[in-house]
Amino acid sequence: MVFEVPKLKYDYNALEPYIDEQTMRIHHDKHHQAYVDKLNAALDGNTEFRHKSIEALLSNLNVVPESIRTAVRNHGGGHYNHSLFWEMMAPNAGGKPAGDVAAAIENDLGGFDAFKEKFKASGLNQFGSGWAWLVVNKGKLEVAATPNQDNPISQGKVPILGVDVWEHAYYLRYQNKRADYLEQFFNVINWAKVEGLYKKGMQ
Ligand code: MN
Repeated sequence: MVFEVPKLKYDYNALEPYIDEQTMRIHHDKHHQAYVDKLNAALDGNTEFRHKSIEALLSNLNVVPESIRTAVRNHGGGHYNHSLFWEMMAPNAGGKPAGDVAAAIENDLGGFDAFKEKFKASGLNQFGSGWAWLVVNKGKLEVAATPNQDNPISQGKVPILGVDVWEHAYYLRYQNKRADYLEQFFNVINWAKVEGLYKKGMQ
């Protein structure tokens, strides 16, 4: 399989003013493309593993040959994380969730406001580069964080919402103010997508 950067389902400027156009262009066209290119290069020539899906690779990193494991973890993770991220955001989105995921946030995390604070803190407290996540773990919602381009899928958890806290995700608009970026991220969360991932994760 040759991995590709998925096309955005909205314009580069559609998430303004929360996520600026220039950040979206560099992030999607340059950063994500680099992860894909390096993932493809790592898998090129490996007859067994080049045909696996990105989910299969990241769910079973321990069976990936040691010579390419770090590349698959980092660049494969970068590809998977960003593919999710573009879809977890949408124009005219944000607000509060509805449906099953809203009920689960109420039951498992003490309600939307408690979740929001915990999620923002998770992103803020991630030292250096990484991601904050809302995951399904054994049928329950949890807030988590991963360093670098690691994904909860490698720990057997299902990511249903994630925010990139690498500086490249926010520095042009927010400079060092990661907390402001995390607050504004709530204006672009695609809760319909999160609901779909939640239902899949509960199956
Ligand atoms: Mn990124």
